[in-house]
Amino acid sequence: MSNPRDDIETMIDSDNLEGIIRKAGELHGHFCPLLSLGVRAGYLAVKKLQSKAKGMEKVLAIVETNSCFSDGVQMVTGCTFGNNSLIYEDLGKTAFTLTRRDEKGMRIVVKPEFGHLLKERYPQYSKLLEKVITQRKGSEQEKIEMMEFGEKVCFDLLKIEAGKIFKMERVEVEIPLYAPIFESVICSQCKESLMKSRAMVKNGKIMCITCGGGKYYQLDGGGITEIEEEDD
Ligand SMILES: [Zn+2]
Ligand SMILES: [Zn+2]
Repeated sequence: MSNPRDDIETMIDSDNLEGIIRKAGELHGHFCPLLSLGVRAGYLAVKKLQSKAKGMEKVLAIVETNSCFSDGVQMVTGCTFGNNSLIYEDLGKTAFTLTRRDEKGMRIVVKPEFGHLLKERYPQYSKLLEKVITQRKGSEQEKIEMMEFGEKVCFDLLKIEAGKIFKMERVEVEIPLYAPIFESVICSQCKESLMKSRAMVKNGKIMCITCGGGKYYQLDGGGITEIEEEDD
């Protein structure tokens, strides 16, 4: 049996953080400070727990933010949205926990001092971030500069010792059950197939939420939000 994560596991074993960040960039689309921190946090936890994930829910990553950080975590840990090994807690903290089903977990949080550290070490970059991201007032040229600078910062952060950036703690985690496998049903209106757990019966007919109306949850830039669908 081949191991699709062979490359990345070799890099973890040989402490090649730069290589892992390059890999994470393939998924994330750009290099930035939070991607760097996510990779680093993921790497530290994987090393500590000696847990290499095969995407079969034996190892779980619980992320507390849906920022760039979480893409770094997914790449290193192999726990992803699609393989049901990534759990999202809508807490808004740059933090994550790696855990195995049979052992205590490791929670890693970015210290609040990191903000100051970033400002002190890269004052010019911080100003660009403020203008382009926070105020949304940057010119095209400033956006490009910010991205270029972000790449430098992303790799440069590796020079700072982990203890200055992260708080690490062993934690007891309440682990969710393995993802249930639901049978599929067909919506009587749109004729599309869906998980039975998301279907409803309306006027004696099976319907999806889009056709039958009702509430569902959506994960977007703002976190988890409730959406209400009007019935047709
Ligand atoms: Zn990013
Ligand atoms: Zn439908």
